Amino acid sequence: MYGRQSEDKFKAARERMLRYDLRGRDIADPRVLAAMADVPREEFIPPSHRSQAYSDGPLPIGNDQTISQPYIVALMTQELRVNPECEVLEVGTGSGYQTAILSKLAKKVYTIERFSDLAESAKTVLDKLGISNVEFYLGDGSNGWPAGRLPSSGCFDRIIITAGVPEISEPLVGQLADRGLIVAPVGGRTVQRLVACEKKTDKLISRTICDVRFVRLIGEHGFQQ
Ligand code: SAM
Repeated sequence: MYGRQSEDKFKAARERMLRYDLRGRDIADPRVLAAMADVPREEFIPPSHRSQAYSDGPLPIGNDQTISQPYIVALMTQELRVNPECEVLEVGTGSGYQTAILSKLAKKVYTIERFSDLAESAKTVLDKLGISNVEFYLGDGSNGWPAGRLPSSGCFDRIIITAGVPEISEPLVGQLADRGLIVAPVGGRTVQRLVACEKKTDKLISRTICDVRFVRLIGEHGFQQ
């Protein structure tokens, strides 16, 4: 796709990422590592930054938004404990890279983005990669997935929020199955705590993983701007 030399460079960079940035830290789930090995991250990066596709940090994707650092994508995915029966809601499609990783692990991924050009470009890349178990929705993800289009169970087994939120919104908690898991960056406008929460009889039991810096979720139950 990018010529033989570039393909070889991306492959070597992906192997370096897996070895040092993921396994070298605390990413040990073999399914997560296999998904990170399988998805070509370079496809999700604009041409201006494509050569840095496997660098250990976030990169710009347009609209003042970012594709998250590979380690954070892997960490959130590992904490989400996705299995092949899971229906997963992702709030914040962005480039679609996290969506693609989840699609390798889940039965189906439902993903919401507020910018139409990001959603369109993510859809184009996922189509190109032959990923077909993803449904897209354009709108405010803080309100959850549209009620008329929920999975047949009426809720999601897993929810991942990939933008910083002041709190996990009521509509999202309402759409999570009992015993379901949510992973999200919760906190202020620039720094948040990455939390993993389990829903037990309508309450979220929350565990903090680490401090993170995410772009803000802008919406009715998010930040105003
Ligand atoms: N996971 C993405 C990836 O792999 O590229 C990165 C997501 S980026 C850090 C956060 C995304 O959340 C942005 O694309 C942003 O436009 C989106 N976003 C912000 N507020 C939103 C909202 N209320 N509903 C849906 N998406 C939102």
